[in-house]
Amino acid sequence: MAWFRKEKPKVLPAEGEARNPSVRMDGLWLKCEGCGEIIYRADYEKAWNVCACGHHGALPARRRLELVLDEGSFQEMDRDLAPLDPLDFSDSKKYRERAREAAKKLDEKDAFISGMGTIEGRLVSIGTFNFAFMGGSMGSVVGEKVTRVFERAIEHRCPVIVFSASGGARMQEGIFSLMQMAKTSAAVARFREIRQPYISVMLHPTTGGVAASFAWLGDVILAEPKALIGFAGPRVIEQTIRQKLPEGFQRSEFLLEKGMIDGIVTREEMKAKLAQIIGLLG
Ligand SMILES: [Zn+2]
Repeated sequence: MAWFRKEKPKVLPAEGEARNPSVRMDGLWLKCEGCGEIIYRADYEKAWNVCACGHHGALPARRRLELVLDEGSFQEMDRDLAPLDPLDFSDSKKYRERAREAAKKLDEKDAFISGMGTIEGRLVSIGTFNFAFMGGSMGSVVGEKVTRVFERAIEHRCPVIVFSASGGARMQEGIFSLMQMAKTSAAVARFREIRQPYISVMLHPTTGGVAASFAWLGDVILAEPKALIGFAGPRVIEQTIRQKLPEGFQRSEFLLEKGMIDGIVTREEMKAKLAQIIGLLG
């Protein structure tokens, strides 16, 4: 037996990490949010931000298009659509300022990137949310761009693929953002007439008005592993129904078991799976 016991010093998390465990370390290494291992950033990025443990980290919107589209096939549309501020809204900050800051930081005009491209040679009308832009919230610009994704598909008689990652409606645009739910859903209905598939892929997280409109109207609804998908968050529901929610509630795996989605697809398999579905239904 030892003469004395040496207490292990308690390692306190760094300031940023304590508040938000998802904060990543800068530089060459980063910490996986799934397994907590320190991993080499270059390897992680090469694996499309998926850790060896299977955890799917956030993937930048343009990287996602690279992941699924044939190289060099993407033709971006409506890049210059920028948000207006119809309500002259301000909370702790003016909406105009908030949008301008996000635009400057990300070099994007709003939270949705869309255009035409090919997947294994098949033409698709495609769009993806950019969660980094104001939490992927849907205002007038996002609604218009989503609508145009379906309109272009009607014109070209081709399938639609939309990747959703959104906190919901953009509250700074009030009723104008809520109107986008009806507008985009109507676009999906018009698209149905050409009898081409609409594949909706829900990423982490897909919530609020986006989940409650076009994201859940897909002919085939896919999700990435462990994505949070739902309308209201679990805390709000718990408070409303005054009941404890089951384990894993609102995660892809739970929703698949309950029949709310059609499949969970890893990033590695995503392109092949989309190509297969388009091949079968397109
Ligand atoms: Zn991991």
